[in-house]
Amino acid sequence: MSPPPRMPLVLRIALIVAVMAAIFAVDTTTRYEVAAAVFYAVVILTTARLLGRRALVALCAACVVLTVASLVFTPHGDLRSGLINMGISVAAIVMTTWLVLKMETARAAAHEAQAQLLRIARIKSLEGLTTSIAHEVNQPLAAIVTSGNACQRWLAQEPPNLERARQALERILADAGRASGIIARVRSLTRGEPPQRSAFDFNDAVQEVLALSQAGMEINHIALTVELADGLPPALADRVQVQQVVGNLLLNAMEALGPVPAAARRLRVESARDGEAILFTVTDSGVGIVPGMSEHLFDAFWTTKDEGIGVGLSISRAIIEANGGRIWAEPVVQDGAVFHFRLPAAGAEPRP
Ligand code: ADP
Repeated sequence: MSPPPRMPLVLRIALIVAVMAAIFAVDTTTRYEVAAAVFYAVVILTTARLLGRRALVALCAACVVLTVASLVFTPHGDLRSGLINMGISVAAIVMTTWLVLKMETARAAAHEAQAQLLRIARIKSLEGLTTSIAHEVNQPLAAIVTSGNACQRWLAQEPPNLERARQALERILADAGRASGIIARVRSLTRGEPPQRSAFDFNDAVQEVLALSQAGMEINHIALTVELADGLPPALADRVQVQQVVGNLLLNAMEALGPVPAAARRLRVESARDGEAILFTVTDSGVGIVPGMSEHLFDAFWTTKDEGIGVGLSISRAIIEANGGRIWAEPVVQDGAVFHFRLPAAGAEPRP
């Protein structure tokens, strides 16, 4: 739906004030039984897209004050009905404002997800992958638009159907959460920029990632062995991206160790010189890779986890290859899994 054309601020305020004055006049001059104040909810609904959050809350407060004032100044009718009508009107005003504010929050989250998606889509080396990600993210975004339109229809009814609107908003929030979740996982693995290759100390970069994972390993009783080779040549790659891959391999290993008894949770991290390259290896004693799984490991959106989305390894491969290296898993090992990647060392030609 396209946004309404923007009016000058003064005109907007004048229009809102005029409509509210008309509602106040009708509500005050008619009998208690006529609940004209409920139309303030429609004012809030129709002006929501023109106002900011603070202005909307102020408008809501003004509507509530005017509703109460009308009751005080209404000269005739059944006071009991007047009190009940005032209660309904105030509830409708406050609920409508609350729902509109929630809807704006969900809309902002959807916009943010879309903006991030666009940034990610610019990465040349991940072109094939981003098509799949765009597809995944578009589903919740389309659902958000559908629920948003439904929500607007429920709110525009007279009186507004607040329960159905609330349900539509819950769907919007859940879908926005899904979209941001997908983007957050992808963004945690790639900054959306081409690799900035430079020479760096590979072991130092690995140690930094290990320091971040330390607490998680201790809590999960994982016995960690680190064997980083002395005298490695500097690696020639994008340091941050390589750390993202290391972090992803560690995270996968930790997740694979989850179902294994605490006493049997072992994780080994190694670096070694491999001719003119650097070889990195993560070995875990987790659930392992069964035959038939290994050919799918690096496919986008292939996952065996309930909460997984299956992009970690495919992005890891894209990153390592964009940095002139190679990543692979040993097809099947006994009791666990072994993942390796090889990166060119500074001064060496990248290997195929
Ligand atoms: P996700 O972690 O979201 O599932 P990944 O691309 O990182 O996505 O991993 C894809 C799949 O590869 C996982 O669902 C899991 O089945 C398998 N996998 C990855 N690492 C390991 C490991 N260390 N041990 C066993 N299986 C693994």
